[in-house]
Amino acid sequence: MLPLLKLLAHYGLHLVAPYFLAALWPKRSRLRVYLLLLATMAIDLDHLLVRPIFDPERCSVGFHLLHSWPFVLLYALLCVLPYGRLGWPWWLRVLGVGLCLHIFTDWQDFVLWRLLDGRLSL
Ligand SMILES: [Zn+2]
Repeated sequence: MLPLLKLLAHYGLHLVAPYFLAALWPKRSRLRVYLLLLATMAIDLDHLLVRPIFDPERCSVGFHLLHSWPFVLLYALLCVLPYGRLGWPWWLRVLGVGLCLHIFTDWQDFVLWRLLDGRLSL
């Protein structure tokens, strides 16, 4: 049962949650915002820099380059910058939100489910 829930949580957060998050930008095309949020999955290309590319025993957050803590800080910063005052494009905040969601998704995929099935303890 847990593997199925984990799979649903993983793809729900990667593919379904962005659709609802897109409503945070009511003046923008929901499809456009949704696609921008999905585009943040491109940070997984950093998996190609290491061998093995995928290791189920490794948490990508804090390990892969674009999942490292300095980048996570940058993604959080992208969520809160005053874009209007800076004259920067609105979609940078969308990318920040999408990247934070991506990091959360990867984190819960590794840590949360290991806590639930007893393979990890606090
Ligand atoms: Zn990832």
